[in-house]
Amino acid sequence: MSLSVGVGLTNDCNLACAHCYRPMDQVYHLTLEQIMTVCDHLPVHAVGMGTGENGLHPQFLRIVEYLQERGVKLTMASNGYSLNTIPDEWLQAFHDVEVSIDFPTEGEHDFFRGVGNWKDVHAAMERCRRFGIPASILSTLMNVNYDKLEGLVQLARSLGANLRVNVYQPVGTDEFCLTYEQFWEGYRSLFASARLVSCSEPVVRAVLGLGPAVSPCGRQSVRITPQGWVIPCVYWPGGSLTVEDVPSLGMAILDTSEFQAARQVPPSVQDCPCLGGCASRRALSGNLDQHDVYCPWVREEEIELDVELAPERELLRASNVCTTIVV
Ligand code: SF4
Ligand code: SF4
Repeated sequence: MSLSVGVGLTNDCNLACAHCYRPMDQVYHLTLEQIMTVCDHLPVHAVGMGTGENGLHPQFLRIVEYLQERGVKLTMASNGYSLNTIPDEWLQAFHDVEVSIDFPTEGEHDFFRGVGNWKDVHAAMERCRRFGIPASILSTLMNVNYDKLEGLVQLARSLGANLRVNVYQPVGTDEFCLTYEQFWEGYRSLFASARLVSCSEPVVRAVLGLGPAVSPCGRQSVRITPQGWVIPCVYWPGGSLTVEDVPSLGMAILDTSEFQAARQVPPSVQDCPCLGGCASRRALSGNLDQHDVYCPWVREEEIELDVELAPERELLRASNVCTTIVV
């Protein structure tokens, strides 16, 4: 088995969005040597860069060069800054990219992220288009935009891009958490206006009857934070493993207690179709052994979603994090 590893080279960023999950106490950078350690001791076939704005890492180009030389497929999520500033040669090293847009209009988007960012993300998408690099829109589904998904679909369509939706997780604050009703209303309007490419958000996947509800967390998803923590999911609270543990553990890192906890199905949900849903969501709320807060079965409710499926596409991120991609 080879791994798609999520890497936050840095938590540094040129913006200061209110819903951000990156650590804010100080700036951390992974080193090139730490990246080499990970690649030397784990079967890494792909690296997805996220967390902060990776182009702000002082060794960014050297790290991209190293990963490219190793034949590692690269993706990056960006607020536009990195995609607009890195040299052409390095931009072309990326297999596909994502730009963060959480609202469908310039006014709403810039109010939330900062004045001028709408133009930056659009410039980034245009630059990627010129180089033939597929660029998707990445939206965080929150209580402030769950009713904007139709507009986001239309925006993605007008730009010839896929829309990828991740549910907000309360890492720093629960201010943007969706209620149960908002969660399902968001997905209902998403699927009413777009065709589904893939869905690995476990509760939604279970409702759609798209095969096993189990998500990749703790199984084949490994995340490296800017501080050097090795965790099963980018939202996983706490951590005890670091990059320095990787040489001695290798793939046995998946057998450690943290990774086991992320994939464990709690006894109380063994018979539930969503198998507990999202482990990080349960862990962040202090209810790791309970049902997912968005589980309809524990409420004895039935959720009906009308979905039109698009042909499945090969998108690196579709297989390694819980996400929903529509076109
Ligand atoms: S652009 Fe991304 S990394 Fe930067 S502050 Fe906003 S959410 Fe956080
Ligand atoms: S489903 Fe898994 S990968 Fe997704 S947020 Fe939850 S724990 Fe993380």
